[in-house]
Amino acid sequence: MESKLLRLIFDYSKNGKLVDKAYLEKLIDLVVDSKGISKYVQNSEIVSNATEETMDGILLAEYRPNRKLIRIYSEAMERMLEEHDRYQVLFNGIEQIFYKNVFITQIILHELEHANQRKIIEKDDTLESKILKTSITNIDIDLVSTLLNEGFTLDQILYYIRREQTLREEHYLLLPDERLAEIRSHQEIARTLEPIKEYTPNLIEFEKTNILENMLRGYFYNEGVITSPTLEYMKIRKNIDKLKEHEWYDENDQECLKKAKATFSLKKRITYGLPIDTSEFSSLSSSLLLSKKYQC
Ligand SMILES: [Zn+2]
Repeated sequence: MESKLLRLIFDYSKNGKLVDKAYLEKLIDLVVDSKGISKYVQNSEIVSNATEETMDGILLAEYRPNRKLIRIYSEAMERMLEEHDRYQVLFNGIEQIFYKNVFITQIILHELEHANQRKIIEKDDTLESKILKTSITNIDIDLVSTLLNEGFTLDQILYYIRREQTLREEHYLLLPDERLAEIRSHQEIARTLEPIKEYTPNLIEFEKTNILENMLRGYFYNEGVITSPTLEYMKIRKNIDKLKEHEWYDENDQECLKKAKATFSLKKRITYGLPIDTSEFSSLSSSLLLSKKYQC
């Protein structure tokens, strides 16, 4: 996938061309094809709706699992391409266009990764699949009819759906599916740019910072310990029974940290939002703070 993606980004950027409709269509096709997710993405549309603000800023694209749809808002995209952000000073002349095109590409990759996550939770029995299952709930017609058959009223079902949405909004930083979609999409960009790293050195460094930043997302220092996003989220969801299925879990936080450290590498723990200790946290945070992105 990365070599095809590189060709697409490179052909546009080196000719000074910004992302357009044709680019987006090619991008979606190549990702859906490479990841084998045509079952989960059956439609894509580019609409020119008025820009909508979300927790992450302007809404540029979204994945609708029930409709198997990727929707892109072209006005929002144009606004983003026109705007100059504070990080642009980090890039040399050649990199400027690359930066803008990569910026939009990553957002689309993030949404397509949500489609890929549906495949992962259906097919695999990996750590990633188990963790994703804690934050991805299928709110669809099947769920509604199951609940109706179980005797729930429509009001109760609506209450349940609203509560699910509120939980997601309130704990956005902890959500395993959101953390992973950010990490995976930035990793894909970094791998894509690797063959041209001499051409775009600042951009690849920037992407590596983005990966680390998202790996550290949701970790907080609290009274001498570092709280882990996935663990916190599972506790909030009262998924304790599910937690007990994990070999790294222990009710005692210190024991849990010990077990997680014995089972997984640091990189794997910060990818999946599992426990890390205070010295790991402070050394990762300082490398983040020393990066060019944080210095500018
Ligand atoms: Zn997302």
